[in-house]
Amino acid sequence: MATGKSITERDGIRTITTHYIDGAFVESHGREVMDIIKPTNGKVIARVTLGDEEDTRRAIAAAKRALASFGRTSKEECLRYLRQLHKAVSDHVDDLTAVMIEEYGGVAQFARLIVESGVNAFAAAEKGLQELPLTRSWGKTTVTLEPVGVAGLITAWNANALFICLKLASAVGAGCTVVIKPSELSSLQTQVMIECVIAAKLPKGVCNVVIGRGDVVGAELVRNPDVDKISFTGSVGVGEGIMRDGAATMKRVTLELGGKSPTILLDDAALDQAIPAALVLAFMNSGQACAAGTRLLVPKSRLDEIKPRIREAMRALTVGDPADPKTAIGPMVSQKQYERVQSYIRKGIEEGAEVLAGGEGHPKGLEAGYFVKPTVFANVKNDMAIAQEEIFGPVLCVIAYDSEDEAIRIANDSKYGLHAAVLGTDLQRARRVASQIRSGRVVINGMTDDPQAPWGGFKYSGVGREYGKYGIEAFLEPKAILE
Ligand code: NAD
Repeated sequence: MATGKSITERDGIRTITTHYIDGAFVESHGREVMDIIKPTNGKVIARVTLGDEEDTRRAIAAAKRALASFGRTSKEECLRYLRQLHKAVSDHVDDLTAVMIEEYGGVAQFARLIVESGVNAFAAAEKGLQELPLTRSWGKTTVTLEPVGVAGLITAWNANALFICLKLASAVGAGCTVVIKPSELSSLQTQVMIECVIAAKLPKGVCNVVIGRGDVVGAELVRNPDVDKISFTGSVGVGEGIMRDGAATMKRVTLELGGKSPTILLDDAALDQAIPAALVLAFMNSGQACAAGTRLLVPKSRLDEIKPRIREAMRALTVGDPADPKTAIGPMVSQKQYERVQSYIRKGIEEGAEVLAGGEGHPKGLEAGYFVKPTVFANVKNDMAIAQEEIFGPVLCVIAYDSEDEAIRIANDSKYGLHAAVLGTDLQRARRVASQIRSGRVVINGMTDDPQAPWGGFKYSGVGREYGKYGIEAFLEPKAILE
């Protein structure tokens, strides 16, 4: 059982100085201190002591020791741990939602959905594991699926709790032990996740958490020979480095990277439903979502009808306090992210796109935090930087097409291939279009999810898949015994 207390508070500022290693809170060996800033007002709400290579090596050693027995855990025991994790995270949905709203400005409407997806990840892994035959035999040959070993789980800030749940569910389902390196911007959320791990009563050393910088703790996980696999969610640049540096120790990798997802609005779409659906896809998680449908492809023949409808729908979107259930768009996570979004809005204007809504600067009355104006550009060409590069903020590009074939060509003309959407009345046609888009997931007629369906990208959007059976398979190695 864990000992000690993970958070202390003084003068309204919380302090975290520990990591969670071998079933206990352990004082950080690393001494660097980072401020956690509240995105709605730019004020410091917490101070976190970041781990170093030594903390990481201690956590890896604990995971390696625990693997000796956990790696031989039966399927029934793994299923039991998944149920315990499911219950523990279910019991913390309110806490996790509240801390997501506070720490990264996730809007209440969306933060709860994210946490619930995290809960569902354990149920999906349980179902996936039940359906996955771990042993197959024929003649004198027996093939078993064995845990890959110690896994390093590295997450992004934009849905840190969900990514931890997804990766932990797959790893525990496969009988692997883990060291989690959560986003350092999500340290308060991570403390709640540690409480969930403790409540789930996993054997000590199975799940270790080291808070720290990517180029310190993350890099040690990637180069350490005792780590067999890295499962990473984050940017393409860091993903490339993990693949390259992990090669030295032949790491297995799952990489969940960026996106520039197309939404194809077909010419038979009912605009009353299609426009709101397109905006939900574009602006989910305040646009800070890898799956955000940030390229809206519309038929040129209906452009004059579509533009005023988008303008009107944008006026109805509430920007502001993420805790208010009416708010659709909250602040960006950090000053850096605010500036990144501003620079792309400027770039779009310089590239000659038409500002249909939004523009540069803060929305009126929201100057204190990292709020941006949700922005829609029309008259966008698909080769503009704003249509090719991931902005990771509420910026939507409207691109006109002449024919269905051209829409498909534009949708696929991207280095990314994570997520896509098709909106239209004729379902047969929508399915035909969906089948020609090169991306890991395509949703028809609005955002939807199925935790049994694989998640992951084609092209630069990544390597491998998560969720359910697909996620567990990524933590297993086939082994054949031949008599
Ligand atoms: P990031 O790549 O900057 O950081 C992600 C994680 O990697 C963090 O924990 C960070 O500390 C760590 N890291 C940084 N440098 C590292 C290194 N050298 N070695 C090991 N780890 C390192 O990304 P971010 O800003 O946190 O997240 C935004 C990005 O994540 C976007 O590109 C977004 O599209 C992507 N993302 C993808 C998915 C998906 O499922 N495909 C989901 C969410 C976010």
